[in-house]
Amino acid sequence: MYDVDVLRESQLTEALLEDAELVDRTIDSGIPTLVFPARLEREFQRHTADKRLQIITLFGICSMGLIIGQLVADWFLLPDVFDRSVWVRVLGYCPPVLLGLWLLHRTRMVWLWEWLVAMTGVWAGAIMTTLLWMSHSRLAFTTVVELNLVVVFVCAFARFWPAVLMCAGMACLHAMVMWAVSDFTGVLVVNTSVLLGATITFCLYANHKLEHDERLCYLQDRREQILDNRLHEAHELLTHQATTDPLTDVANRRYFESYAQDYWMRALELHHPISLLLLDIDHFKRYNDHYGHQAGDACLKSVTQAVQGCLRRTGDLLGRLGGEEFAVLMPEANEASAQVVAERILRAVSDKGLPHAASLTEDVVTVSIGVVTLWPSEGVANSVQALYAQADDALYEAKRSGRNQVMVARQEMAP
Ligand code: GH3
Ligand code: MG
Ligand code: MG
Repeated sequence: MYDVDVLRESQLTEALLEDAELVDRTIDSGIPTLVFPARLEREFQRHTADKRLQIITLFGICSMGLIIGQLVADWFLLPDVFDRSVWVRVLGYCPPVLLGLWLLHRTRMVWLWEWLVAMTGVWAGAIMTTLLWMSHSRLAFTTVVELNLVVVFVCAFARFWPAVLMCAGMACLHAMVMWAVSDFTGVLVVNTSVLLGATITFCLYANHKLEHDERLCYLQDRREQILDNRLHEAHELLTHQATTDPLTDVANRRYFESYAQDYWMRALELHHPISLLLLDIDHFKRYNDHYGHQAGDACLKSVTQAVQGCLRRTGDLLGRLGGEEFAVLMPEANEASAQVVAERILRAVSDKGLPHAASLTEDVVTVSIGVVTLWPSEGVANSVQALYAQADDALYEAKRSGRNQVMVARQEMAP
């Protein structure tokens, strides 16, 4: 389970937080009205639309079968209007239903589909009562119980509120029959009314429960989905924080070192070379002292961008090892290509032309670079630590020789 307050604290997206709150509030409300807040309702309808389309199509087809099937009852109970019954049931019911089904498949207005189901039920009830009313058969009044069949059948398919409308329609039709057909005795009026009332009550109760459970299930799924998204976002956020330097947005020391270790092992397996460039900004302490710490931070970002712009091969990784020291790992790069990239970086940084009035080397910001290329092989002397140590020696050499230059460690070990 998620906690909305924890979500709020964890800097996750606003939308996710809003969704979580909305779903929680809706679940807590108990959804007695079976209507979600507008946005959630739209999502629910979109989510269930395909299934509803199938269900309502099945409803339409079955209802035509049922209406025509009742001709058997009409044959026995309404023999005097049987001919008209055939016409009304076949031509008065089926074409409108077929038209409704056609409309259903042409529009995505789910609410319209649902109310069409209710209207279909009312229409079927109206046809039945009209036939009953037209007939002078002694047994005609017994067909009033067919309204119960309509209630049960429609409630099995319809959404709750359209089902309520349909039931109200059936109750009105029943009342009209009671009023219009003089054959009805008091007992039968009470009997059929109680029967219809009970049918409506049970069917609406069952219908409400089914729809309530379906909606609750949807909300719980949504909640789970939000939890998944939240975990995913939190994971991404933590991964980013754990692997990235916050100032320059390049790999931090921890990630760079594990990356170097991974590629060292791969190079060991594949007998490929691996190159490391160590970069250090020249006279950076003086830069800070002269321009201030904030300007120093901006300078670090600019240098990072310049270096990043020089890396073109996938797999090359720039990391900030700390302070004004950076490193570039170049898997599979031999000494020549590592040196080319180092020279390119050197030029890119000084070409950026960041003024450095306090530098003892140039009047712009420059870097010194130590380069080493090793062919990994088993043994203590040749490890990723050796790679750092030799690159560091080369960097020190570059500093000692006047800065703003590339120095290559000459201990390359061929396989
Ligand atoms: P060298 O040319 O020999 O490399 O000398 P240097 O002054 O660049 O090197 P030194 O190690 O003496 O000083 C590094 C300075 O980098 C000291 C510190 O104030 C500064 N520094 C380290 N981290 C940051 C940072 O995140 N932001 C800023 N603005 N300055 C930093
Ligand atoms: Mg330094
Ligand atoms: Mg420095």
